Amino acid sequence: MSDTGRSAADLIRALETGLFIDGKWTPAESGATFPVVNPATGEQIATVADGGAADARRAIETAAATQESWAATSPRSRSEILYRAHRLILERTDELALIMTTEMGKPFAEAKGEVAYGAEFFRWFAEEAVRIGGDHTTTGDGANRIIVTKEPVGPCVLITPWNFPLAMGTRKIGPAIAAGCTMVFKPAELTPLTSLALADILVEAGLPAGVLNIVPTNDPGPVVTEWMESGLARKISFTGSTQVGKLLLQQASGTVMRTSMELGGNAPFVVCADADVDRAVEGAMVAKMRNMGEACTAANRIFVHRDVVDEFAAKLTSRMSALVVGDGAADGTQVGPLVEQKAQTKVRELVDDAVARGATVMCGGTVPDGPGYFYPPTVLTDVSADSDLMATEIFGPVAALVPFDDEDAMLRLANGTPWGLVGYIFTQDIDRAMRLSAKLEVGMVGLNTGLVSNPAAPFGGVKESGLGREGGRVGIEEFLEVKYLAIPRT
Ligand code: NAD
Repeated sequence: MSDTGRSAADLIRALETGLFIDGKWTPAESGATFPVVNPATGEQIATVADGGAADARRAIETAAATQESWAATSPRSRSEILYRAHRLILERTDELALIMTTEMGKPFAEAKGEVAYGAEFFRWFAEEAVRIGGDHTTTGDGANRIIVTKEPVGPCVLITPWNFPLAMGTRKIGPAIAAGCTMVFKPAELTPLTSLALADILVEAGLPAGVLNIVPTNDPGPVVTEWMESGLARKISFTGSTQVGKLLLQQASGTVMRTSMELGGNAPFVVCADADVDRAVEGAMVAKMRNMGEACTAANRIFVHRDVVDEFAAKLTSRMSALVVGDGAADGTQVGPLVEQKAQTKVRELVDDAVARGATVMCGGTVPDGPGYFYPPTVLTDVSADSDLMATEIFGPVAALVPFDDEDAMLRLANGTPWGLVGYIFTQDIDRAMRLSAKLEVGMVGLNTGLVSNPAAPFGGVKESGLGREGGRVGIEEFLEVKYLAIPRT
């Protein structure tokens, strides 16, 4: 199925699995390693260097020492590195996708989609690198000129989750390179291999030593705390859970670091009475099932107007129950395993709780025998508003349908959560579309679509879903400081 001609085991065996500091691969100072497991089988597929505080110190000192020379490089040269890396990633689509599937579980076809999506951040920021602008105005009294320039913010701490092992990295590394920032990067402990493969590609694309420094670890606390308290890092860009994001915001206050926080979601997906039901089902399949439901943008609560709920539920159930579940590396698989045993247990508990509170299981709902951490595509109807899954990111292939009659009551429920990343609205009435888009407390709205992620768009949330945006025209601003010069007019 893959065109690599090489097995996943061969590809992984050929990877560097150390720390990547100052352009060199090294073991952890302690000599420790940690295992990486294939969630489809539960088997170990690699061991990776397990960095500690001393390694973290070396990495941030390298990033700080490299900052000045890197910031002095031309925007065009940084842009060219990103263009080359973009092309190399695409040339190695099958290899990267197979590594990703094997460490994370997503089906090979989806992994290839993520490679294209992840690579595009490099092309987008290659284009942005040479468009960093400023401003020139005059004070109101005419006494001074005001020149506004943009400078790289400085050494950055980058931390990514396991669910999009390539794209969450390129979404941060791309703008940091474009802006002229050096980096220390800690990939998720469940999926470090894709990030290590990416480092190799960036070296081949010409990234100078010391610009990107990677410290994988199985114990993130000491490594990241070392960076946050070093006084050398000027910014943290984090994607992950709201819980860890809050901890890092507290740590960032110690040295008043700039912060970008892409945190959890609890997306409402609203199907109005006038919706095109087939289109809404199509949208729900994407918004729910992308990445087996393990996405911050996943439709978590599906509010369906009572007039169309039976039709929507029947059509969605028919689509969900036809999906092929299996090892993501096998031909024809549409739904892979969840990332780890803990995730499988959590999804089972959420479904059991919803059922105990009166939900009806239309399909799925039972954990299959092992091996692997599989959970079947599941549709629940008549989910009660007090079910645990209404207030928790499900992070699994479970569609929870809540019927509604009244738009205002539905909006109160939709907005009645601390999160505000994305919302989806399906309606054919333009006034309703505009009204609901304005009233949903979210950073992004999918209007008659189940997919909002795109490198050209500003991705991010409000409330406890985060601070700042990644991608789009504003993405690079997160890595730039504004400096203003006052010059008397003589
Ligand atoms: P997580 O918060 O457990 O882990 C994310 C990263 O933080 C990992 O690299 C992890 O090692 C690190 N980490 C964990 N504890 C830490 C600590 N004490 N100090 C420093 N770093 C620490 O999240 P996860 O389970 O990997 O990812 C799932 C979460 O990420 C979900 O909540 C999801 O919604 C969110 N997410 C958000 C976006 C977005 O763009 N808003 C995108 C993808 C995922």
